[in-house]
Amino acid sequence: MTNDVSARDIQLPQTQFYEAKSYPTFTPVGPALVLLDSDELKRFGDLRLQLSVGGEVRQNALVDGDMIYKPLQALQSLTRFQDLSAGDLVMTGTPAGTALSAPPKPLEIIGNLLPPATKWKAFFKRQANNTEVPAARRHRGTLRGDRRRLHRPRHAAHGGEIRVTTVPVVIVGAGPTGITAATLLAQYGIECLVLDRWSSVYPQPRAVHLDDEIFRIVARLGIADEFAAISRPALGLRLLDNTTRVLAEFHRDPAHSVHGFPQANMFDQPDFEALLRANLKHYPCAELRGDAEVTDIADGGEGRILVTFNDRPEGGKHIVEANYVLGCDGANSVVRSCIGTGMRDLKFDQRWLVVDIASTADLDQWDGVHQVCDPIRAATYMRIGDSRYRWEFQLLPGETTDDFGSLDALRPLIGPWVRDVAPTDLTLVRVAEYTFRAKFAERWRRGNVFLLGDAAHLTPPFIGQGMGAGLRDAINLAWKLAGVLDGGLSPAVLDTYEQERKPHTRFMIGMALSMGWAMTAGGDVGNLIRRIVVPRLHRIPGLRDKLVESRTPALRRSALVTKARAPWQLGGTLCPNPW
Ligand SMILES: Cc1cc2nc3c(=O)[nH]c(=O)nc-3n(C[C@H](O)[C@H](O)[C@H](O)COP(=O)(O)OP(=O)(O)OC[C@H]3O[C@@H](n4cnc5c(N)ncnc54)[C@H](O)[C@@H]3O)c2cc1C
Repeated sequence: MTNDVSARDIQLPQTQFYEAKSYPTFTPVGPALVLLDSDELKRFGDLRLQLSVGGEVRQNALVDGDMIYKPLQALQSLTRFQDLSAGDLVMTGTPAGTALSAPPKPLEIIGNLLPPATKWKAFFKRQANNTEVPAARRHRGTLRGDRRRLHRPRHAAHGGEIRVTTVPVVIVGAGPTGITAATLLAQYGIECLVLDRWSSVYPQPRAVHLDDEIFRIVARLGIADEFAAISRPALGLRLLDNTTRVLAEFHRDPAHSVHGFPQANMFDQPDFEALLRANLKHYPCAELRGDAEVTDIADGGEGRILVTFNDRPEGGKHIVEANYVLGCDGANSVVRSCIGTGMRDLKFDQRWLVVDIASTADLDQWDGVHQVCDPIRAATYMRIGDSRYRWEFQLLPGETTDDFGSLDALRPLIGPWVRDVAPTDLTLVRVAEYTFRAKFAERWRRGNVFLLGDAAHLTPPFIGQGMGAGLRDAINLAWKLAGVLDGGLSPAVLDTYEQERKPHTRFMIGMALSMGWAMTAGGDVGNLIRRIVVPRLHRIPGLRDKLVESRTPALRRSALVTKARAPWQLGGTLCPNPW
């Protein structure tokens, strides 16, 4: 590394503003090049710099104490906008070519009359005003998708130690929402640090379905083929009565879709999350740090946010300073508590048993989603992989997971689907109880802190849209945030995130609640009505298509969406993508 501090020492008193350092072709390196090994580098602070001009000593100081930014820090800073390799010669200077420009002639003449000490004083005063770097220059993320290396935070090595580092965006939570947001931001060249309290993917299966709109987001992340390899298209929806007799079937053609992907796709969430994380590794500007539990989000003043996190195994405490924080930390979000917003409860509370079974035996079932409509014990069955099956059963009062801890105990529930498959051919992957709820956060934003995914909304999984909603949040916010950080968009554009996403999410939660109601409402009378009405639904013109189509509502009005006045107008709708 070379720098031009000494050149300035000569220039300023002599007012030679355009000599030496300002000529791009003239940069002295040497007279000797000394390569330091790592032990010598540790003693870098002992290095003495001496400079004499005409026999007069101008500089005689140890590097330690005199150098504000050491070589390692300087190199780390440079890697934010410049790729560096071993052997590179790094020449530092001022970004625009020169820190100083010649003052107007009259001032220069007066300046020449001043003693050097006064000139230095004036110089330092002016330099001291140069501390604020405009936001657009601090974060030179670009919407053209260049990939830059992250200014990696220095991690605390000792328990209890606090170190502060700075990143444009901190994402709390590395679930599907957080990783999607990080990947999209990284694709725009925006640096982000993802913090998650666990070191690896949450291993329990949860989401099993996503639609063609969400598949399109997956494709945007660059992993369409990889996702296709770990998922299988579903053929549609069957409604069954409480004896598992088929009331109605709504077929979906996986090859036919306006977005070019099957309208219903079955998968295992841990497989999908592993894929998302593997893909994130291709983007050096995003760093994922596991075992990092976020405990506090605080206002750091001047538009900065302080994110405090603990090293779970070591116990060290860290603070990251960020311009924006995305709370993707799930249902019990710490970020949500820190920004002080409550959850609006849509008063849905049902306990369900979730059963995952692996089997290489063929269950010989129709390859779509089966919904059992039964006010006593509603249920859902679907095949989610070549050898993976999922059931969800509404629990009766007093029942718990303990009542269904073995294949034998589960037999009365799963019997209609596994029939005569031998118990030795079935492996119980897990049984868990979930309370399905419908809620959404009253505010999705405070200042530069945003809520996304389950941190912002919770839905019962009856139409398989909870995780999808988080991915929709991420893609809605990522390009806007990238545009603001890049300096190309006004920060006001960020208001449209909540304006557009909240009504859409509420609508989808409403759909899930309607499905739950259709499956469970009305007691015996409800069952009777279902038996009469459901088999005839397909005769109502257009209703059959409505039931199987995966299209979700248009975005409501925002500064970016002109609301369509008539049904045939397209404002807020997704542009088809049949390829
Ligand atoms: C039984 C069941 C079935 C489902 N089926 C479907 C379906 O078919 N389709 C669908 O779309 N959705 C479905 N869902 C919903 C889906 O699983 C969730 O919506 C989805 O996981 C939410 O993703 P997320 O990234 O927002 O949150 P999460 O997946 O909860 O991830 C949050 C992350 O934040 C981390 N975290 C939390 N607190 C902190 C902290 N303080 N510091 C650091 N890290 C923290 C966690 O470790 C976690 O990794 C289902 C859910 C259940 C329970």
